[in-house]
Amino acid sequence: MQQARIRLCVDHPLGDGQPVPLTEAQTHYLFGVMRLGAGAAVLLFNGRDGEWMATVEQAGKRGGALRCTTQTRPQGRHSDLWLIFAPVKKARTDFIVEKAVELGVARLVPVQTDFTNAERLRQDKAEAHVREAAEQCETTVLPEVAPLTPLPRLLAGWDSARRILWADESAARDRAGAGRLVLPPGPAAILVGPEGGFSDDERARLRALPFVTPVALGPRILRAETAALALVTLWQAQAGDW
Ligand code: SAH
Repeated sequence: MQQARIRLCVDHPLGDGQPVPLTEAQTHYLFGVMRLGAGAAVLLFNGRDGEWMATVEQAGKRGGALRCTTQTRPQGRHSDLWLIFAPVKKARTDFIVEKAVELGVARLVPVQTDFTNAERLRQDKAEAHVREAAEQCETTVLPEVAPLTPLPRLLAGWDSARRILWADESAARDRAGAGRLVLPPGPAAILVGPEGGFSDDERARLRALPFVTPVALGPRILRAETAALALVTLWQAQAGDW
């Protein structure tokens, strides 16, 4: 059998002998770009049923058919880590989404803060980035993308069992060089602000909440995407699956 190198994220259920229809884009990619023919093998996952080897049964410009043969990996799970982030410029937001998936974040929560300058986040685009990143990094997990929510509403409905690790640039200014950063155990959500940082109002609100822990990431002010990456890395190394 031909070695399967292509990994595709699909919506359809996967299982023993399961036929899997393709979207137009997938048809174009598999048969137009990659030039696969009948009998070729492809790896499939959908975020629910693990990873499956599938064989191309029919390959054509207009459409094709795949059929699952064997399960190659069981459905995995990411560590219980969420990332709450304020959308920044498009390329930087894409970067945050992509890296969060690669680093093993389970759920992405875009938040609207006082100084968020991107007024919206295309959820469908973010989801497409999640799928692409998941295809590339060989995870079977498809992290969810929540709808963009204003910070006060998010905090009002927050389940206090999940600690918010708040990347707080003002704590960084006050407590630079405070020593080794130790993160609390248990389910967590990292909160990273926009380019403008958090407002005084937001800071006061966050400081008053018992389930929020401010975190300082060294004495330098980082870009939002760097702060997100750094804190996810720290958490994964201390409490996650690394
Ligand atoms: N313009 C702001 C900085 C925003 S940086 C200012 O000058 O105050 C964007 C986000 O990255 C911040 O809201 C914070 O969540 C995070 N961040 C940046 N540097 C940080 C640091 N040293 N420690 C903790 N969080 C940091």
